[in-house]
Amino acid sequence: MNNEFIESHIHDIPDFPKEGIIFKDISPLLASAKARSITTELLVRDFRGQTIDVVVGIESRGFLFGMLLADALNAKFVMLRKPGKLPGAIISQEYELEYGTDTLELQENAISPGDCVLIHDDVLATGGTAIAAAQIIQKAGGKVEGFNFVIELDFINGREKIKDYKIASVLHY
Ligand code: AMP
Repeated sequence: MNNEFIESHIHDIPDFPKEGIIFKDISPLLASAKARSITTELLVRDFRGQTIDVVVGIESRGFLFGMLLADALNAKFVMLRKPGKLPGAIISQEYELEYGTDTLELQENAISPGDCVLIHDDVLATGGTAIAAAQIIQKAGGKVEGFNFVIELDFINGREKIKDYKIASVLHY
């Protein structure tokens, strides 16, 4: 029932940003206070009672529910950003894309050694971003407690790349 309500707030946009991709647009979900609050509760459910010191949100749509999750779990919130966006000393991690590579960056003192970290993003597709996020957190000395996503694209099987971790997704396609 809740899942159907959330699903009705996700819009499929065919051929965006390029042909053949069905873009999952979460804008209607963000626009509704009720949908936001139910989504946050569903995201928090699987990690409540577990020690989570830090919620890490992946740029940029991972920041949105990431902050709400950090509030709900009474945890610190940290941004993982695209290159050149974060000031000061940074730790970086390169990862493979379909064509070429990309990089994620983290501020050097954002994670303390031993911190229990929950990584959040809006969509799990190939899992390339997610595994790079786990690697950078580990470089910083953090312990990855798991991942959660609003949407998991099961047909791409990105969870295979992060199968050693706990994974919780609100919606599966
Ligand atoms: P990936 O590294 O392939 O798992 O891609 C994950 C990132 O790309 C996430 O940060 C998503 O925001 C974005 N993404 C990938 N596929 C989609 C999609 N079909 N709709 C919306 N966002 C997507």
